Amino acid sequence: MKKRSLFFKGSVALAVWIVFFFVTNFIVCVIEGREKVFINENISVNILSFFLGFFISVIVMLFMNLIAIKRSDKKHIYEMAYIDKVTGLGNKNKFILETAGVLTKNKGKYAVVVLEVNNFEVINEHFGLDEGDAILKYIADILKANIFEGEIVSRAGAGRFNLLIKYDDNDGVKTRLEMLMDDISEYRRTDTEISKCSVTSCCGIYIINDTDIFNNLKETEFNISNVIGRAKFALSQILGKYMNYCAFYDEETRNQLISDSDVEYAIKNNEFVVYIQPKYDIKDHTLSGGEALVRWNHHSKGFLTPDKFVPVFEKNGFIVDLDMFVFETVCKMQRKWLDMGVNPVRISVNQSRMHLFKRDYVENLKEILDKYSLPAELIELEITETIAFESMDVISEVLKRLHDIGFKISMDDFGSGYSSLNMLKNLDVDVLKIDKGFFEETSNSKRGQDIIESIIDMASKLGMETVAEGVETVEQAELLQENGCDIAQGYFYAMPMPISDYENLQISNKKDSGE
Ligand code: C2E
Ligand code: CA
Ligand code: CA
Repeated sequence: MKKRSLFFKGSVALAVWIVFFFVTNFIVCVIEGREKVFINENISVNILSFFLGFFISVIVMLFMNLIAIKRSDKKHIYEMAYIDKVTGLGNKNKFILETAGVLTKNKGKYAVVVLEVNNFEVINEHFGLDEGDAILKYIADILKANIFEGEIVSRAGAGRFNLLIKYDDNDGVKTRLEMLMDDISEYRRTDTEISKCSVTSCCGIYIINDTDIFNNLKETEFNISNVIGRAKFALSQILGKYMNYCAFYDEETRNQLISDSDVEYAIKNNEFVVYIQPKYDIKDHTLSGGEALVRWNHHSKGFLTPDKFVPVFEKNGFIVDLDMFVFETVCKMQRKWLDMGVNPVRISVNQSRMHLFKRDYVENLKEILDKYSLPAELIELEITETIAFESMDVISEVLKRLHDIGFKISMDDFGSGYSSLNMLKNLDVDVLKIDKGFFEETSNSKRGQDIIESIIDMASKLGMETVAEGVETVEQAELLQENGCDIAQGYFYAMPMPISDYENLQISNKKDSGE
């Protein structure tokens, strides 16, 4: 709807005024039976029609304004309720309404998809809101260009989009979404740092069954919210994988859902427990360190290993607090063992990549360290190569500050990702932890053994210590020893154990070494 300009309204009012002036003059002339019927010579009639005309034109102008305001209010209210300002797409409310409309009218099979940009908040924080908005617009354009008639696309907030697409079979939907995500990954801005990393996304998919469809529109709207919730749940299982991924909703996984109230309860009731897995010097088999690994003693679900909850916490942000809890627990124990005269060995703690973007991350670690007056070299911070997604400048800066404090830094899961060597080239780390999966697959062949040998060789040339994870057999241990690996960690040596058991191990280690 076009907004009327002041000039247009003024012109209309002036025209009304002039027309009124001449029409009144004309009428008076006709009534008085004059021959010249244009201008009345009676001055008071002229003055009267002049002012009356003015008054009417003012009223006309006010009336026009009133209509314009009403129209723009209506438009504004509509936009606020249904349109996303950044992309111009409909928002979640519009999606629900339109989807309900489509599903009540059409019989075909559909899928609801929630597509989310991985680490969108990080992109915003690092590259600025303008860059974030540019990415959203780019995605919106791709989605708009790729949906068919009768399908719907909308933005659901932050880096999230909702789609209603026609369903043929799982493979068809997956292939289509993967192509969309590949297109999204093509996003490049040469003038900014973002050109250095690709914009990846994940899709959660829920296939709408016939039984989910209701004939009543209101009920359908209600159910669309549930359907979106299920697609979101599927998404939550894969978010943050740093690559394009699709997941279908599966009822069984949903039953394992961890709620926020579970976490609150867990903190209040000390349900998180720190275990330590010892690491051994490969040459003389002495205890050379430990890795802190968290477990959740859940009040109803039982004893949970991190794979059940760490990915969820990485998504909802709770991992930051949990890592700090593990870090503090380790500092407290190291202090206790120092006081006992046990000469504790270095313990590593896993650090989620989310910390790197907390302004006070380094200060928080330092504060806790100071609280226990602990020498920083007794702590090693394990970062994973998945942080390769982030800006190298930012990571280097954080690592430098951590090194300045005296922490050792290790790169965890080396060889499990796709940019390990790139990370090594760019980052100053002290320890290389060779991923257990990588080790399993390669240790059985000559070629695999050569690769392990080369990794160890390369790490030693770079002045890094090597730790082999997941060592399960004597053959693996021997192979590592032959190739000059420094430290081994795995079930062959010891399982992760409660802190009290690890304490006993340290005490006996001290006795064995004759101290
Ligand atoms: P990770 O850092 O790679 O930890 C090593 C995992 O390998 C541990 O699993 C450990 O129990 C397992 N492991 C050790 N030796 C062997 C072996 O010989 N064979 C096999 N197959 N596995 C072995 P866990 O404790 O279940 O931890 C899984 C992952 O959860 C960890 O992988 C780490 O990424 C994450 N995690 C654990 N605790 C924390 C934490 O406090 N903070 C963060 N951010 N992540 C944590
Ligand atoms: Ca680790
Ligand atoms: Ca690891």
